[in-house]
Amino acid sequence: MRPTARHLITALSSAMLLSGCVRPDPMVISQPAPQQRVAAAPESEPATPKVALLDEEPEEDKAEEIAFYDLAQAFGLKVSIDLVTGRRVLRDGTNTVVVMPSTKHILINHRRFPLEGMIRWKQGTLFLPAESSAFLAEWLERRPLPQVAHDPELFDGSEPGLNDPLRRARTQPARAPRVSKATSLPSAWRINSNRRWRYIVIHHSATDVGGAKSFHASHKKKWTNGLGYHFVIGNGSSTGDGQVEVGPRWQRQNKGIDGAHAGNKRYNKYGIGICLVGNFNKGGRPTPGQLVALRRLCRALMSSYGIPARNVLKHQEVRRGHTDCPGKHFPMAAFKRSL
Ligand SMILES: [Zn+2]
Repeated sequence: MRPTARHLITALSSAMLLSGCVRPDPMVISQPAPQQRVAAAPESEPATPKVALLDEEPEEDKAEEIAFYDLAQAFGLKVSIDLVTGRRVLRDGTNTVVVMPSTKHILINHRRFPLEGMIRWKQGTLFLPAESSAFLAEWLERRPLPQVAHDPELFDGSEPGLNDPLRRARTQPARAPRVSKATSLPSAWRINSNRRWRYIVIHHSATDVGGAKSFHASHKKKWTNGLGYHFVIGNGSSTGDGQVEVGPRWQRQNKGIDGAHAGNKRYNKYGIGICLVGNFNKGGRPTPGQLVALRRLCRALMSSYGIPARNVLKHQEVRRGHTDCPGKHFPMAAFKRSL
């Protein structure tokens, strides 16, 4: 029996419930994993509560696949089949997606997206690599950028220390043309990268304290290359408030080592992961020092690698339904306005 989209989403959710930045629902985490999901569950989740929860599925990719019809249904696409070529054409009125069995790419609105794996038949059902859903989400559900008008979360006057660049950004005349005054990366971190960085993905650590060193130790239990993020910005607990630490995956990026922060292969490969120490779901908020450092770092990275502001994303935007990282108190709208 073919699983329904709901089954699929449920299965993916449980398979990917590493969630990291977001503490999984305690009820879920306290339950033993269903037997059939054991293989996909993290096997070496750190047991101590003080370490950062992991953000990511293991680097050893599980070759997750999604049944074609479930994917189409999840995105509201109607399917037609070309009986001569065997290709499937999906449409939703404005978009067209072409899926050809036994190839390693899909066409979305005539644009070709190479996939990590093959589109293939299994037991009479056509399966696509799981990353296909990321492409579709990105291209078919592109959402508008946050509105500039009002962000009570940041500007309600109750927060100390918010007279920093973010507040100033709000009072600037509407969107002056961006003069490229971007700070550059410290030379030790400026890497003549052999990959095309396209995204910046922002995380919180979901811990009150910590820094690159402690997160590296906990991630090391699971991944050979340790710390999944490229950069960590301290909150004054283990490292300085606003102190930027660079991780080994950034330094070794030209050796083919990807990030392990997004829960999504595409964003791990082409997305720079920045983690702010803190839990911004439990009432905690980034410190002004962290926001200033984040802005500087983002602007430097955007400038160095040609990353547009629209590609600066919250983790939850690349991992919808699986995490609410970097937490509901992260002031994304205001932050993006400041870029
Ligand atoms: Zn995250």
